[in-house]
Amino acid sequence: MNPAQLERLSEHLVKLRLFKSRERLEALLQHAAEKELAYSDFLEQVLGEEVAAKTSKNVTMRTSMARFPFVKPLETFDFSYQPSIDKKQVQQLASCHFIEHGDNVVVLGPPGVGKTHLSVGLGLKAIEAGYRVFFSTAANLISALTKAHGEGRLDERLKFYTTPRLLIIDEIGYLPIDRLGANLFFQLISRRYERGPMILTSNQSFGAWGEVFGDRVIATAILDRLLHHAVTLNIRGNSYRLKEKLKAGLVRAEETNDS
Ligand code: ADP
Ligand code: MG
Repeated sequence: MNPAQLERLSEHLVKLRLFKSRERLEALLQHAAEKELAYSDFLEQVLGEEVAAKTSKNVTMRTSMARFPFVKPLETFDFSYQPSIDKKQVQQLASCHFIEHGDNVVVLGPPGVGKTHLSVGLGLKAIEAGYRVFFSTAANLISALTKAHGEGRLDERLKFYTTPRLLIIDEIGYLPIDRLGANLFFQLISRRYERGPMILTSNQSFGAWGEVFGDRVIATAILDRLLHHAVTLNIRGNSYRLKEKLKAGLVRAEETNDS
């Protein structure tokens, strides 16, 4: 191919923002000539590489927008350490049907059993499937809502949390929630109710949510909406952090009565 034509092709690809194809053009042309590829095979290869590059860039971008505390895929979760988790059920959730159905997922269990890891892993699956995801701790979310309420921007903030297709709210119950916070949280849950699915994690059983929210009536109203279409994963097991400490010899086995 003559250099002028190569130059023109290159300009077209830039105009079309097909950067991967531009980068690979010469190599792909050479390969096609050597292998005497059919036109259709050549075109498939060029477009296939471009789509793969764009998809991967998009996944990276949405992963950083999700604000996960760490990025650990579900594949790194050791199910054998946590037999109370039904691996099949988690795999089912990983197929993201729950998002299509608008179902919520609630992960309950003591500290260190992998609640955040599982929710991040499922969040990453959702991103791979093309959804927008946002992760927040309950404390950060409530403090942002409270601040926005004080500044007369509550509606804007509620929209911010209703826009992502999947909202993950981690660590409900670690910090006490005041009356206003509970009320604003209820407003968010009502907005997302039957519109956008959520994953929530808590170290407190549902029965204790009255104390978490400082108000039994509000807690019941929140749970009523949350659990209408929901899957609950109840993890009963030892902290994984403890397992790592044990391995490192930082604690002795008889001290492992982790609560
Ligand atoms: P929780 O949110 O329940 O307190 P995390 O999800 O933060 O627990 O888990 C604590 C740490 O242990 C994280 O680094 C997490 O990746 C890891 N972890 C927990 N459970 C497992 C597991 N079953 N397999 C692999 N890593 C795990
Ligand atoms: Mg956690």
